[in-house]
Amino acid sequence: MLVIQELCKTYNNGIEALKNISLEIPHGIFGLLGPNGAGKSTLMRTLATLQDPDSGTVTLDGTDLRRDLQQSRQNLGYLPQDFGVYPQVSAVELLDQLAVFKGFVNRKQRRAVVEEQLQLVNLFDHRHQQLGTFSGGMRQRFGIAQALLGAPRLIIVDEPTAGLDPAERIRFQNLLAEISQDRVLLLSTHIVEDVAELCPQMAILKQGAIVQSGSPLEMLDNLKGRVWMCPGEDLSEIEEQWALITTRMERGGRCTRVLSETQPSSKFQLVDPDLNDVYFTALM
Ligand code: ADP
Repeated sequence: MLVIQELCKTYNNGIEALKNISLEIPHGIFGLLGPNGAGKSTLMRTLATLQDPDSGTVTLDGTDLRRDLQQSRQNLGYLPQDFGVYPQVSAVELLDQLAVFKGFVNRKQRRAVVEEQLQLVNLFDHRHQQLGTFSGGMRQRFGIAQALLGAPRLIIVDEPTAGLDPAERIRFQNLLAEISQDRVLLLSTHIVEDVAELCPQMAILKQGAIVQSGSPLEMLDNLKGRVWMCPGEDLSEIEEQWALITTRMERGGRCTRVLSETQPSSKFQLVDPDLNDVYFTALM
């Protein structure tokens, strides 16, 4: 289990990126949702020990991550948001090099580990191909292969599905589900659907603070009977009287959703809340 206690971080320009963050994250995929600028990457980099918090602690299975950085990094895999690769180098060459950095000094053992990872992410047949020729989905799967080197207990994945086509996204989601079986996998994203589809537990971050955490199913339950929809987007009336959740396209037309304990007017019908409703009400 990953335990985050009272993490704070203020940048030199005065921006408070993390305001007293505490979370307990069990094995499996944990989704961290939040708009751009909420502090997700700051939190991810802090957990990846690439950046120091001003205060607070992070422990993985009882051990403080900052106590022995070398040891912690062995237990940690990280797929950053902008994952640069050397375009002229082949997948197997780069992974082999990265395995050296992870401490695999024995060549034979290293080759076995590298090949095993390439098999797992389904890139073995492309292992001699230059990384510059990889599609977005292949690059992300390569990113997972490097994050998995050394069988880390904590894997941190920062906004992985942006820019993937639907088929690649599904393949990538399946891969994340597969590798999260017996470890903590933290998935940071601003794509609500990724969390809805993948994560049994989640938290929503807003301006550096956790505004909601728990299971998406429970959060949906909390909203049951309180989300109302009407066709159209006459906001003038709505914003004054009820809490506007969103206006969005539904079944080919624009619709407005509001949060209300009672039926706002006869134009509104009760709808099943979805995770977008959870997300936008949490950010209100
Ligand atoms: P997210 O990943 O959710 O988009 P970030 O962690 O990147 O959020 O940023 C959180 C806030 O901290 C933003 O307001 C951002 O502008 C600011 N920020 C991020 N990195 C730095 C930095 N190195 N120096 C100053 N401000 C930063």
